[in-house]
Amino acid sequence: MSAPTASAAVREVIGDLEAALKHAITHQPRSLQQRLGPSEIGSECDRQLGYRLAGVPRVNPYLPWLAYIGTAMHAQLAGDLSGRVLPNGARVLVEQKVGVGRIGNDDIDGTSDIYIGAADGRTGIVFDWKLVGKTPLQYYRVHGPGPRYRVQVHTYGYGFRRRGLPVTDVGIGFLPRSQEFVHRHWWYEPYDEQIALNAIKRADAIATAITTAGPALLPLLRTAEAECAYCPWFRPGSRDLTRSCPGAGALLTSLSALI
Ligand code: SF4
Repeated sequence: MSAPTASAAVREVIGDLEAALKHAITHQPRSLQQRLGPSEIGSECDRQLGYRLAGVPRVNPYLPWLAYIGTAMHAQLAGDLSGRVLPNGARVLVEQKVGVGRIGNDDIDGTSDIYIGAADGRTGIVFDWKLVGKTPLQYYRVHGPGPRYRVQVHTYGYGFRRRGLPVTDVGIGFLPRSQEFVHRHWWYEPYDEQIALNAIKRADAIATAITTAGPALLPLLRTAEAECAYCPWFRPGSRDLTRSCPGAGALLTSLSALI
């Protein structure tokens, strides 16, 4: 057998590299996480939450490259900021695991990106990082973070309160993925425990309903088109809604055809 040509050998190496990379992208701890987390309970789509809580396998072959980049950026930020004491004496805690209570039969926890505790112990700020492209960054600058991100950061705040730490404000640092740092945007607001409690209560209600009714409930759950683009259960044209979903828009179209 003749030796492969130089270009064939390079192509073979590239193929092996890509396979290794794709395996790494799809096997990040966050991708493999079994239990629902604070980053998910704020989904606007009840059915998406339902698939997650029912343990329905993901069907969307989407390779989460952007999430992989975000994970790498989070690791860099955590390394650069861990243990810092700010000029006003506030201490920076990174990658803190916080428990937020039970949803269904599971204890739910998540990992907060960054907590800033004032030196006098009276105030605390929870921040989350979001690495975003130019268009979404401009959207968040104008419209705010939207329900999912807002619920997420308030839920982390709730987790810190359960640990006995002060939480007075929550925020998100939107960092540009394709622009210079000057374009970053900070969103923040006072901490509101009720936002977290409402989200946990809603997810628990969906979990309880699914435990009672089984997957047959999934087609009946409320949908939201805003979540479809990256939904793990999105499958165009799907007819078996207990396994996958054609998207909120597609469903509305099919329903309107019946009226
Ligand atoms: S595809 Fe869209 S409507 Fe369907 S479950 Fe996912 S987010 Fe909800």
